[in-house]
Amino acid sequence: MKVTFYGAAHEVTGSCHRLSFSDKHFLFDCGMFQGSDFNEGRNNEPFPFAPSSIKAVLVSHAHLDHVGRLPKLVREGFSGPIYSTDATKELALLVLRDAYQIMISDHEKFQTPILFSEADITETRARFVGVEYGVPVQLATDVTAVWKDVGHIFGSAFIELTAEGKTIAFSGDIGNHNVPILKDTEPLGAVDVLLCESTYGDRLHEDIDTRRQLLLSLIRDGVKKGGTIMIPAFSIERTQEILYELHTLSLHDKTLPRVPIYLDSPLSIDATAVFKRFPRYYDHEAAQAQMLNDDFLNFPLLHLSYTREQSKFINNVLSPKIIIAGAGMMNGGRILHHARRYLSDPRSTLIIVGYQASGTLGRRLYDGMSSVKIFGDLISVRCTIKAIGALSAHADQKKIIDWIKKAKNIPKKVFCVHGEPAAATALADRLRQALSIETYVPDYGESAVI
Ligand code: ZN
Repeated sequence: MKVTFYGAAHEVTGSCHRLSFSDKHFLFDCGMFQGSDFNEGRNNEPFPFAPSSIKAVLVSHAHLDHVGRLPKLVREGFSGPIYSTDATKELALLVLRDAYQIMISDHEKFQTPILFSEADITETRARFVGVEYGVPVQLATDVTAVWKDVGHIFGSAFIELTAEGKTIAFSGDIGNHNVPILKDTEPLGAVDVLLCESTYGDRLHEDIDTRRQLLLSLIRDGVKKGGTIMIPAFSIERTQEILYELHTLSLHDKTLPRVPIYLDSPLSIDATAVFKRFPRYYDHEAAQAQMLNDDFLNFPLLHLSYTREQSKFINNVLSPKIIIAGAGMMNGGRILHHARRYLSDPRSTLIIVGYQASGTLGRRLYDGMSSVKIFGDLISVRCTIKAIGALSAHADQKKIIDWIKKAKNIPKKVFCVHGEPAAATALADRLRQALSIETYVPDYGESAVI
């Protein structure tokens, strides 16, 4: 069996790994590169393999950096099935349509390429085959795979594939501890080789139990200053979890300041409807809330801004106010309009709740730049910027190591993918020292026989 890394190698986007044995090729994910203009330009390059040679794609979850190039793959000749959980299939479709709209508008403004058409998205949708967690799927003679809940976003999974007497697991993105709504990460089975994400491979998050209180205290401080509180969030999962926390703080704890909260993201609003269609994926607490008809994604302070007019209306509302909008790394989306307006206001606050990839506006702000360019305007950064690592969708180093340590059989080899070089290398070193595992940090295009 051979694995080749065609994305998320020394970086956190473009997830795509090819597994080959005898004359069969399979892909784990087929995601978009994101971040800098250079990185996004890579999406336009031809695939380094013939799309028609791929027998099937096994998808871990619906984030754009894991599914974004599927319509391009289909457009260029892939004609096999795309396996994922049912929720991933529904959410991926929303994500791809949203990406398409952004591509069209970017193309009009900046003449950037359009990677695929609406017809390609429809064709991609037709190729999806839904799988259930824990139910093995026969991919070919003597090739089976099973999806297990990884607790990263709704419908997310790690995948264990067995062929030629060996089992190789692909972690996808590993969820954080005790994430609202989602179930915990399932234990890793008896695997020989693991492709493991390493986004936070060199970091430890704050205490998870204080997550809700940290958010509350940042909001209270921001409201006291009288400014606007901006929360850039991935439309799928991060947003719903923030809303879940705000709902709890507002209606149950009754500690949230009574200021309006605007969810300014059509994709989030559509994704929330998908969550409601799949209550079987909820964790115990969320399932109970659902049973009691306590609609945790809908509460009096929350206003949904779907249309452009509703989004613009937020400007007229006096501060203090809270705005949750995508994109999560501020590399596009409605958050940019609010950032342009409020970053230079010393009364305002930006709360960073997710990983900010290198080259994105979110990363530049996280790194403390004093001025940034948005839509061609140079904006001085004078607002307060705070990050809450515990609100991230990704496991920290400790959780990843504990997950591998508790596997049914500890894998003999681990390839650290989906991490910037320092993070991937730190995780590889730690795994080698703590568990005596052979570890590698592969380069783009590198192959390994396993
Ligand atoms: Zn993800």
